[in-house]
Amino acid sequence: MAELRGKVALVTGSTSGIGLGIAHALAGAGADIVMNGFGDPGDIARLREDIASRHGVRVAYVPADISDAYAVAQMVAQGTAELGAVDVLVNNAGIQFVAPIESFPPAEWGRVIAVNLTGAFLAMQAAIPGMKARGWGRIINIASAHGLVASAEKSAYVAAKHGLVGLTKVAALELANDGVTCNAICPGWVLTPLVEVQVKARAEAAGITVEEAKRQMVTEKQAMNRFTTPEQIGATAVFLCSEGAATITGTSISVDGGWVAQ
Ligand code: NAD
Repeated sequence: MAELRGKVALVTGSTSGIGLGIAHALAGAGADIVMNGFGDPGDIARLREDIASRHGVRVAYVPADISDAYAVAQMVAQGTAELGAVDVLVNNAGIQFVAPIESFPPAEWGRVIAVNLTGAFLAMQAAIPGMKARGWGRIINIASAHGLVASAEKSAYVAAKHGLVGLTKVAALELANDGVTCNAICPGWVLTPLVEVQVKARAEAAGITVEEAKRQMVTEKQAMNRFTTPEQIGATAVFLCSEGAATITGTSISVDGGWVAQ
């Protein structure tokens, strides 16, 4: 178990799904949390209060668009001003768009690459100098099984996630002797709003129930017939912050019910 009391963790896209699970897990290990992401201001205020009161940590919120270089630099600066320098950076914000290459709108390609790949690069650029200066840091990139293997109709997402796995390796090499590790977590199916959209689309297209669509989606890709939970991804992130993981760097940890084992 990592002891993160006194450390600050910035989790992008932590107003929902996996990012919210990671924020709770890191807060559970004692870290103060900088939340980021979009949503209804009232809902976000409640999520923020929930993390703070449940875990007894400080929680800030910066609604930066992760694809905007200026906003990302401001996010790291504001998080640092409110809670202290960022020790743990989790690049989790991500979006999906599904279409065959021949009809994939170029603007959607650009958006998916900008949020899922360039956003992680920008946040790393902003957070790395402080980590190096303090001689300790953890960078965790939430890639995907789609960072390791492909699915049809997800060209931008698969390209971005493969890119993120590559970026993870480069950062690991550059920071190898600075006390900073950089790793990717590659989840399989996690039932979040991002996936619920795909479940609904599948159910409607095939004229099947939502429950049947979920079952088909999981079993066609994974050996395990179950979703991973945001809490389980959070537990992996906490492990990567622990002293036991201090020499794990540049790698991708699959948490995917056997998806890429096949
Ligand atoms: P989600 O839709 O529940 O949450 C996405 C989060 O990112 C939200 O907080 C949203 O506000 C934020 N976000 C979106 N665009 C943003 C932007 N431009 N700037 C800042 N924040 C932005 O999705 P999720 O399923 O929790 O996905 C989280 C990450 O996990 C993504 O990178 C996704 O690719 C990855 N992932 C998800 C699954 C899955 O099955 N759900 C599997 C593998 C990988």
